[in-house]
Amino acid sequence: MPRVRVAVNGFGTIGKRVADAVAKQPDMELVGVTKTRPNFEGTRAMEKGYPLFVAGGGDRAAFAAAGLPVAGTLDDLLGQVDVVVDAAPDKVGKENAAIYRAKGLPVVFQGGEKADVAEASFSALGNFANCLGKRSLRVVSCNTTGLARAAAVLGPHWGIGHWEATLVRRAGDPAETARGPINGILPTFQLPSHHGPDVRTIFPDLSIATTAVVVPTTLMHVHVNHVRLQRAPRDADEVLSVFRSTPRFHVFAPWEHVDGTPQVMEYARDRGIGFNDMMENVLWENGIRLDDRDLYFFQAIHQESIVVPENVDAIRAILRLAPDGATSIATTDRALGLAPTGRPSR
Ligand code: NAD
Repeated sequence: MPRVRVAVNGFGTIGKRVADAVAKQPDMELVGVTKTRPNFEGTRAMEKGYPLFVAGGGDRAAFAAAGLPVAGTLDDLLGQVDVVVDAAPDKVGKENAAIYRAKGLPVVFQGGEKADVAEASFSALGNFANCLGKRSLRVVSCNTTGLARAAAVLGPHWGIGHWEATLVRRAGDPAETARGPINGILPTFQLPSHHGPDVRTIFPDLSIATTAVVVPTTLMHVHVNHVRLQRAPRDADEVLSVFRSTPRFHVFAPWEHVDGTPQVMEYARDRGIGFNDMMENVLWENGIRLDDRDLYFFQAIHQESIVVPENVDAIRAILRLAPDGATSIATTDRALGLAPTGRPSR
């Protein structure tokens, strides 16, 4: 099968994960990654055999001084690929958009950009079909991806009347030592928060209102959800079995003693996929309750990795490498070592 050639511009938290994920796909070739300055992640790129290019006005001499061989500049890299994934910091993607446009290259942006950076916002379970053949897509943020996946399950099965979600957000990623708080709880003084409108970039008619607080952890976000469904499921088990049989959901049973995000991340370390990542929405059997049409459930979202398989699927949507979302998701997840559906319960 001929493989499409992919560049990843920005080799940080998201970019390095997307690069690994792309390199594992049977229909994709990772041509190179970029960095603006040398650091330990550049060493890893070299060890993995990913050609390294300099972006963002970076200094090639600094890479040479660090002993990191550089294959060229971003401009050189973009001349060799069919599609680029922009994983530069928030708002830098919008600046980079002009570079990609000048090259006539299709591009996948990240959720730190405003929605208008791309032709459409993207969620693999949510709107793959609407995104086929677009020239630019924005993979929505980690929180929005988690909400959109759940909406893609609940909507078709029972209809969503209205959804209220409180997002308990991690303060920063593990390496982001400058972020906080390290002690305290910070309400997000935007009521409702921007996440609801962001989910509507995928599901324009969804009635959803979100609020958020930031807490001192680096281990995942947790969403506290109350969804008024349009049709009552038989019971909570019916809802759980649908989540369990959907790819990119992982439901923990009580006997597993996964009390919260620390054990979820420990499970992910035991499993050893990607960077010991948890790319699925995480639910708990004992963290769901149904009162007629009122569904309550918790879900945990690993901020650093949930968007990684989505980026792979966004590439397939842009280049029409798969006829539908289910086919792309199955290919992506097989290559990443994710279970084809949530695990069966014991
Ligand atoms: P990051 O800071 O970890 O990585 C960004 C990388 O881009 C760094 O290596 C940086 O040196 C490099 N860079 C800087 N300027 C550049 C330029 N002009 N061109 C190319 N590269 C440049 O950031 P991140 O957390 O990986 O975030 C990237 C995007 O992904 C953002 O839009 C962010 O909102 C989104 N995102 C992040 C998370 C998360 O939790 N980290 C989750 C979902 C989405």
